[in-house]
Amino acid sequence: MRVPEITDVPADAPGLSGAAVPGRPSRLLQALTILLGLDEHRCPACGMPVSGADCAKTAEPLLRARMRACGLCADCARALPPLSGARCRSCGLSLPGPAGGRQLCGDCLHRPPPWQALALCGDYGGRLRQLILRFKHGGRPALAFLLAGMLLEAAACLPLPDVIVPVPQHPKHLFRRGYNQAHELAVALGLQLDLPVRPLLRRTKEVPPQTGLPAALRRRNPVGSFCAPALEGLHLWLVDDIITTGSTLRTAAEALRAAGARRVDVLALARTPLP
Ligand SMILES: [Zn+2]
Ligand SMILES: [Zn+2]
Repeated sequence: MRVPEITDVPADAPGLSGAAVPGRPSRLLQALTILLGLDEHRCPACGMPVSGADCAKTAEPLLRARMRACGLCADCARALPPLSGARCRSCGLSLPGPAGGRQLCGDCLHRPPPWQALALCGDYGGRLRQLILRFKHGGRPALAFLLAGMLLEAAACLPLPDVIVPVPQHPKHLFRRGYNQAHELAVALGLQLDLPVRPLLRRTKEVPPQTGLPAALRRRNPVGSFCAPALEGLHLWLVDDIITTGSTLRTAAEALRAAGARRVDVLALARTPLP
């Protein structure tokens, strides 16, 4: 997805001469704000101070666009993904060999997932992991807007859905954290795309947290744990934060397909390597 640049605005556009236009600060005011350091904020990934001047002196256009869109410092904008290397096109698992193929991992070859396409920001590690941890466990639901922006970069090639659906959390976990991170992401996506967000999936039984469970148990864990109302003919984006074994997403997508969804695509922030 193309992020608009300030340089895209024609030179004779209102406001560039210093004259204020309704709802937009004048150039003089912007310059004063930068000069006095009043535009400084903290990078949401590492907490370092960032200013508009830092952004303006960054030479690479893509990096600058990401800094502007997400409020990141240059280091974090550079360190966060795009994805690289060979990947399973269905579940995003990192695979050996050269990038760019249409390869599938053994699991997806053996048991094709119930979704059509996957958009993924990166592997669960480094700066992306830091950011997700702050979002998920640091009481920072507002980071959803930054992360949703990255998801939109990753999903630029996907057709837009009729509805965006978050993977639900069990009420007990929701109570503990105060928010469902997948729901926050879905809402941020919906606001940026002007698309409806609906919590269509309902958990039908409690699922213990997957952390620390052996892989075989984690795969078995969420079976039969979701249901959905009739969704005849709808194209859905199913949103979650982290793909571990993919079994939660698989069960959720199966429930959506069983309810009549025409197409389900999965959007997730990160993929863990195989345990
Ligand atoms: Zn940073
Ligand atoms: Zn796979």
